[in-house]
Amino acid sequence: MTTLVIAEHDNAQLKGATLNAVAAAAKIGGDVHVLVAGANARAVADQAAAAAGVAKVLLADAPQLADGLAENVAAQVLAVASGYSHILFPATASGKNVAPRVAAKLDVAQISDIIGVESADTFQRPIYAGNAIATVQSVDAVKVITVRTTGFDAVAAQGGSGAVEEIAAVADSGLSTFVGREVAKSDRPELAGARVVVSGGRGLGSAENFKILDPLADKLGAALGASRAAVDAGYAPNDWQVGQTGKIVAPQLYVAVGISGAIQHLAGMKDSKVIVAINKDPEAPIFGVADYGLVGDLFQVVPELTSAL
Ligand code: FAD
Repeated sequence: MTTLVIAEHDNAQLKGATLNAVAAAAKIGGDVHVLVAGANARAVADQAAAAAGVAKVLLADAPQLADGLAENVAAQVLAVASGYSHILFPATASGKNVAPRVAAKLDVAQISDIIGVESADTFQRPIYAGNAIATVQSVDAVKVITVRTTGFDAVAAQGGSGAVEEIAAVADSGLSTFVGREVAKSDRPELAGARVVVSGGRGLGSAENFKILDPLADKLGAALGASRAAVDAGYAPNDWQVGQTGKIVAPQLYVAVGISGAIQHLAGMKDSKVIVAINKDPEAPIFGVADYGLVGDLFQVVPELTSAL
């Protein structure tokens, strides 16, 4: 039994989500290998080889793998799939783009968004926006799985001594072409992996008012998040959305400001270690999951809290 984890990276750095997927692979048991499909990505392969518990890294290095085009990466995974009992992807935008293609081509059922491993063929995954946990057993010969990164603590990035093996890259599928990428730049930590998240909701009232959260986030070294209502109203950018249809986060500290706590928002943050809610409505459902609740007007409370910090 050997598990292949598909690395997420930008050809220079291994993304943290890969280390969460490696942790899930370790729980399955057997050897853990990592596939790095990229261009000039030797440094990524070396980082993956250094991760705790990784026995081997397969490096497919070619220009057609430079931009993570799902058609080419899926073909690369399929080229090596026969050697593996389990193929794991982080349940990120790119992992979720490639995994179904691999599962379909292998004619197996994908097991999506696992948060627990009971045994080599039995996994836990949230359903109904996280309100129930399904235990699913797979009888497929190869298990194609996406891993909810917040469900598994990342393995150590250092300490491993895996071998790097260069493998032949698949030819360009010709099915898609990379056109361009616009990357949002921010000095703040990446939302999905941040230790502290400060999120604002419709209660902020405007994009201008949303800036009241900046000094608080600065003090806490936090990433900024938002409810869908705040995003839809244009108060915050789309990639800040936390929830069922946004990002899933589980930071050490989550501060929800002017957010009511709709079930679809809770689905994205209720596994945070400590939740602080600021809301003027004492009946707001967010207080049902909060460890600390502050009933008050956010426009008074947030500056006070910021200056106290
Ligand atoms: P509201 O529910 O309007 O809450 C605003 C809160 O601010 C209120 O509790 C109010 O008391 C408080 N408030 C107002 N003024 C102040 C003040 N001055 N001081 C303090 N408090 C104040 N939502 C998400 O967030 N993420 C998702 O991924 C998501 N996915 C969805 C998917 C589907 C299929 C559907 C149907 C819905 C989804 N939603 C999602 C929307 C969700 O149902 C809610 O509509 C949304 O979360 C509400 O956002 P909110 O809490 O900011 O707004």
